Amino acid sequence: MKEIIPPIFGARFAQMGPEFAIPTKADPLPNPRLLDCHDALLVQLGLRHDNADVLTWLANVTAGAQLANGMLPVAALYAGHQFGHFVPQLGDGRALLLGNTQSDTGYWEWQLKGAGVTPFSRRGDGRAVLRSSIREYLVSHAMQGLGIPTTQALSIVASDLPVYREQVETAACVLRLSPSFIRFGNFEVFYYRGQYHLLRELADYVLTHDYPECLSEKQPYQALLAQVIKRTAQLIAQWQSVGFMHGVMNTDNMSILGLTLDYGPFMFMETYQPDFICNHSDDAGRYAFNRQPEIGLFNCACLAQAMLPLLDAHGDTAVAVAKDLLDAYWSHYHSHYLHLMRAKLGLQQERDEDTLLIKSWLNVLHQEQADFTLAHRQLSSQTTCPFKQEASMEWWARYQQRLQQENSNEQQRRTLMDSVNPLYVLRTWMAQVAIDQAQKGDDSGVQQLRKLLAQPFIEQEGMEAYAQPAPAWAQGLSLSCSS
Ligand code: AMP
Ligand code: MG
Repeated sequence: MKEIIPPIFGARFAQMGPEFAIPTKADPLPNPRLLDCHDALLVQLGLRHDNADVLTWLANVTAGAQLANGMLPVAALYAGHQFGHFVPQLGDGRALLLGNTQSDTGYWEWQLKGAGVTPFSRRGDGRAVLRSSIREYLVSHAMQGLGIPTTQALSIVASDLPVYREQVETAACVLRLSPSFIRFGNFEVFYYRGQYHLLRELADYVLTHDYPECLSEKQPYQALLAQVIKRTAQLIAQWQSVGFMHGVMNTDNMSILGLTLDYGPFMFMETYQPDFICNHSDDAGRYAFNRQPEIGLFNCACLAQAMLPLLDAHGDTAVAVAKDLLDAYWSHYHSHYLHLMRAKLGLQQERDEDTLLIKSWLNVLHQEQADFTLAHRQLSSQTTCPFKQEASMEWWARYQQRLQQENSNEQQRRTLMDSVNPLYVLRTWMAQVAIDQAQKGDDSGVQQLRKLLAQPFIEQEGMEAYAQPAPAWAQGLSLSCSS
């Protein structure tokens, strides 16, 4: 262990005290096997990914078997609106915040997911199965590759420890990094308990560390809420632009930084169906693809409600302020979505007709039962109309006309479009193949997908199979909340 100098950790969030997060020991996974790690991030953290001692250290830390200098593991308290209903106490039931590092490359909180029971586990076992851990690990890389704000996944370990879900599976643990793991639910818990002093302390912490620019505003808490609303709206616009479905947009899964957080039954849209529901436990379709934007607003409204005591000393004024701030949600959402979709269609000018052109494009995809990712990707190289239906051909003519009016240069347009329309997304079947392999002890599929998805816009040799819709065997693979 001479060559490795593990980073020195701080315990900034733990130091907030037991009202916010309770000191908790990990229950180590036996015989951990390091499946893969994020080599570039390791290097950024000053750790060499090609050093065997580093990898052993990382495997042990990821398994909850080793603490580094300064780590003080805690489980955070939060509440949340789950499927629209308020649940007064949730908290990290299987996540453990280890501590934080601070270097030239930024501030990172380190968190384990699946390291055993915590005071908030309720009836859960505190574990995560290999299947869901691989999915979280890979999609974190995929989102980062797509340029969509997300928590990062540094490493993943597997173990032979049995875990009981619908069937017996094995446990795994992901080590994830984020500048903050604070959720909307961390605010909600103190509001509903009437602990406004803790609510204020939490908001001050977030302002100081994550939104320092708001501190110089006349009303810092209002400025904070305005920023979170804006980031959330923009995040969801990004999800919609790549067909990403989160699956469980409860307020306890909403990041105060506007990052994609807590991956469960997520999916990338394949055959375009706007009301697609990726989580088969979501009977009412609350989190269907086309409802994500309005749910984002609902979630922001829950946060605004929880922040009312901070927004103004007078209840009525606070409500009016909250309403005003929430009013900005749709304009942030629409303008970001339009901006992203214009780029996807290769449009360089902004025109009033754009909203309609984009809407009818999505209708074409729906009617043609097109693959969402591939239809966008292929659009840049199509010189003749690829569709047969009359309405689709009409759209095509309108689109060509528009490109001509813009004097659009074909070569330039193609380059720009290919830089925003991914060729590879993490399709359920791709993750499943890698999971099946890893369950048999072969981690190469996970490693290959991690590298592929880190560069989703660049065509990679030998990877043609991954730029395809689901093969017949994988059509109808469904996902539950079980993880
Ligand atoms: P999720 O829907 O995965 O974000 O989880 C909702 C809540 O349930 C969170 O408070 C989790 O910590 C908790 N939870 C989920 N799975 C487990 C588990 N296996 N053991 C303990 N708590 C869990
Ligand atoms: Mg969660």
